[in-house]
Amino acid sequence: LYEDSQQKEKLAVVGQMAASIAHEIKNPLSALKGFTQLQQERDGSTENFYPIMLNEIDRINLIVSDLLIIGKPNSSSKRPASIEKILTYVISIIEPQAVRQSVNIHVEIKAHVPKIYCDENQIKQVFINLVKNAVESMPDGGDVAIEVQYSHNEFIINVNDEGEGIPGDIISKLGEPFFTTKPNGTGLGLMVTKKIVEEHGGRFDIRNNPDKGATVKIILPGHK
Ligand code: ADP
Ligand code: MG
Repeated sequence: LYEDSQQKEKLAVVGQMAASIAHEIKNPLSALKGFTQLQQERDGSTENFYPIMLNEIDRINLIVSDLLIIGKPNSSSKRPASIEKILTYVISIIEPQAVRQSVNIHVEIKAHVPKIYCDENQIKQVFINLVKNAVESMPDGGDVAIEVQYSHNEFIINVNDEGEGIPGDIISKLGEPFFTTKPNGTGLGLMVTKKIVEEHGGRFDIRNNPDKGATVKIILPGHK
């Protein structure tokens, strides 16, 4: 994607800056979240702004996590992990937003899927970004279907939505840093996805469905 070496250099500088800023934000943010939760428990009032506050804190957390990954040199600590568990966690993170938008998320694990050798936190971040995009593509509700298969020593995971799909003229821009079509988007999600998937020796592909919406396909190698 970035043949131009100047572009690469620029990206490295942006990445380092992003990582140091993200690192500084992470600690005060987790303190803020902790104290907001404690205060919510103390107050016990039903009419309050805590859900909004917590939601905004979670939003910042996701952005910061993306920035941290961009800034890091390619390094990850890989261990065997369960894809099913990873997806259960991811859904629990996105669920509040999905419920607000009347979106149903379901997972279909096809046949036996072994453990995947991966950096679990990074793979979680991949699916948080993809499932979030799928949910955001359906402001008026719909279904997100996550399909997991294992064949020929590869994990194939499809994240399918029923949203508006991707306009043809922006396909080539997807995954470019800061490219977004959303008023409050960061344009970091697909870039981070690409970085993590490649770091795991995998590949990904995003395309429109023949009828409605888009599907992101992630292919990750099995353990040799
Ligand atoms: P952001 O979500 O912050 O905009 P991303 O890198 O996650 O950044 O996505 C970049 C752009 O790709 C989005 O703004 C959107 O235009 C497009 N996109 C990604 N996923 C989907 C999807 N499932 N359906 C339609 N468009 C999508
Ligand atoms: Mg996104």
